[in-house]
Amino acid sequence: MRGAVIHAPGDVRFETVDDPHVLHPTDAVIRTAVTCVCGSDLWPYRGAEPIGDPHPMGHEYVGFVEEVGSAVTSLRPGQFVVGSFATSDNTCVNCRNGFQSNCLHREFMSTCQAEYVRIPNAQGTLVATAEVPDEGLWSGLLAVSDVMGTGWWAADAAEVRPGSTAVVVGDGAVGLCGVIAAKEMGAERIIAMSRHESRQKLAREFGATDIVTERGEEGVERIRELTGGIGADSVLECVGTAQAMSQALHAARPGGNVGFVGVPHEVAIDGQELFFSHVGLRGGPAPVRRYLPDLIDRVLTARIDPGKVFDLTLPLEQVAEGYKAMDERRAVKTLLKP
Ligand SMILES: [Zn+2]
Ligand SMILES: [Zn+2]
Repeated sequence: MRGAVIHAPGDVRFETVDDPHVLHPTDAVIRTAVTCVCGSDLWPYRGAEPIGDPHPMGHEYVGFVEEVGSAVTSLRPGQFVVGSFATSDNTCVNCRNGFQSNCLHREFMSTCQAEYVRIPNAQGTLVATAEVPDEGLWSGLLAVSDVMGTGWWAADAAEVRPGSTAVVVGDGAVGLCGVIAAKEMGAERIIAMSRHESRQKLAREFGATDIVTERGEEGVERIRELTGGIGADSVLECVGTAQAMSQALHAARPGGNVGFVGVPHEVAIDGQELFFSHVGLRGGPAPVRRYLPDLIDRVLTARIDPGKVFDLTLPLEQVAEGYKAMDERRAVKTLLKP
């Protein structure tokens, strides 16, 4: 089969790779329905993370079950399934505590920009829909497999409550999905921090009530002005840079909470400052599996449409252009069709 392989910064190729097979009784192999490029794929693409030997890419997927291992009893070939970037058995203590992305048997997916994908821990990881959904819903379900699940986790970790004020730092796909999540959780005021007109428009469509274009301490100042001088109840940090984290921590009110879901790169947190701020901080890789049944339902019933974050659709074989468009910020997120 063919799939995306990264060779060096800026060098992603679509090439022949080994066909995936069931290696363990707990595996499944799926045929990719649609997949995509993630903002976090840009870290190695931009040389901000070491690449090492050429390796496959991609961790967001929906697909059709092709083959299952002997221990997989809940899935059968032909079913349409949604998974997560972190596989989980969904039975160990961490899974039962709702932190499936810290499953004791976790494996991170990394081969999904391809025609077929092996899914470890298939029974715990994959959620099948009752029937094959209308193709128009695939993009929304694909978003659920990572960015929507991650945006939901950001809002959950920031403890968004009905009637509260939420700030979303970051206008990438996760930030935009964070706006959806904050709205669904009942936030009354949702302040999106964004400098890009098309992203501001989508943020408003998703439920943002205010847009702040300033960044850094100027942005924090604006948030303070909008929140009676004290800061927001909840802040969703969806970037992962030092500036975004500092902006998030400073935008939260005393007793407020920051949910951070951008993979941190050179982020350092000052203990003294955190101590005296009274801000709660929680983040990490989203336990997407916990949210899958609920989020799949919200997409299938058209309550939410996170698929709108995909503003570029390409054939899978043009995956390199998909990376380039996102790197150059010509696209928020690229959907890839095998
Ligand atoms: Zn991702
Ligand atoms: Zn587990």
